[in-house]
Amino acid sequence: MKKLHDQTNCIHGPNHFEDPHGALTAPLYQSSTFKFANAAQGAARFAGEEAGYIYTRLGNPTTRELEEKLAQLEEMEDAAATATGMGAVSASVLSFLQQGDHLIASSALYGCSFALFAHMLPKFGIEVSFVDMTDLDAVKAALKPNSKMLFAETPINPNMTVLDLAMLGQFAQQHGLISVIDNTFMTPLLQKPKHFGIDIVIHSATKYLNGHGDVVAGVVCGSKEHIETIKLTVLKDIGATISPHDAWLINRGLKTLHIRMERHCESAQKVAQYLESHSKVERVYYPGLESHPGHRFIGNQMKAAGGVIAFEIKGTLSDGEQFINATELCTLAVSLGDPETLIQHPASMTHSPYTQEERLAAGISDGLIRISVGLEAAEDIIEDLEKAFLCI
Ligand SMILES: *Cc1c(COP(=O)(O)O)cnc(C)c1O
Repeated sequence: MKKLHDQTNCIHGPNHFEDPHGALTAPLYQSSTFKFANAAQGAARFAGEEAGYIYTRLGNPTTRELEEKLAQLEEMEDAAATATGMGAVSASVLSFLQQGDHLIASSALYGCSFALFAHMLPKFGIEVSFVDMTDLDAVKAALKPNSKMLFAETPINPNMTVLDLAMLGQFAQQHGLISVIDNTFMTPLLQKPKHFGIDIVIHSATKYLNGHGDVVAGVVCGSKEHIETIKLTVLKDIGATISPHDAWLINRGLKTLHIRMERHCESAQKVAQYLESHSKVERVYYPGLESHPGHRFIGNQMKAAGGVIAFEIKGTLSDGEQFINATELCTLAVSLGDPETLIQHPASMTHSPYTQEERLAAGISDGLIRISVGLEAAEDIIEDLEKAFLCI
């Protein structure tokens, strides 16, 4: 069959569901367990000799629909849905690393990914090096005989630094490392890491994929072999399995992902340009602006710049506090990818797991403000920011 467009696949997925009653929307299988016809069937399912569901921690039809959609969108063989984005991050590292292995991680990461790598993995005898992944020489210098995995995100949360996926994918392949990219900020509609030789792609589905601010969830996409390992080890035995109800909501959210991403990108571009021209703004970090070093990746690695902007205002930390207290439409809350525009202060909020020294090394200044541009009218968002600037 002719390859369909992403926006079509977001709605239909690879396997058209035939409901016995003709329901248009695939039903929610809110069931913890599944009946076997007889003892032999139960045994055959446990032995993997017969396909079919057993128990929702091991698999569920509603969850499967989400996994199939994401695997198709990321152009990867398979996917595993998880209870949270951190469930996806932890499953992807714990399934493949063991005592004595070495992980090369980006020095700037989502705060809890950083905390997992910096504080938890070393407790299990896994070595971690944090490097500036914009610099190939720094990545090369981190390589050790026991290096097993490379982990990064792009654009980097919160300051929107863009990494060169082709460079990282090639480096990982040359050195036999499993490469993992957190693609939360882009979604598969704007960036497909697989095209650059990346092995595993993860998402916090809490953000754009669900897109309605009412679920926490995650997804890992990869080869059949990698996903089978994740499902049969960490997901089965540690248990960060998604709830079928949450999977159902994300299946619904995905149907509008395409138009939501278009609007998020369009409005973020307007807000970024407004901020860049503002006399009280020191610096804006948004790859859609020509002034941003990541701009050269737009149109090739990434289709558009996404919906998140970081900026520094001129003045003291308390001016920044006053500013985020003064916005009204822009809601003071962490998370991103929701219909509501959300504004937050990474140093004291999402990136507080970092020490100040670690944060500065990761390029996250104390005055940085992050805004996730929502689906409201861009003019209204800008007016709200303008009012807040008048308060400082
Ligand atoms: C939010 C986020 C996560 C963690 O996802 P949860 O769903 O909150 O567990 C991981 N990576 C990035 C880039 C994120 O923005």
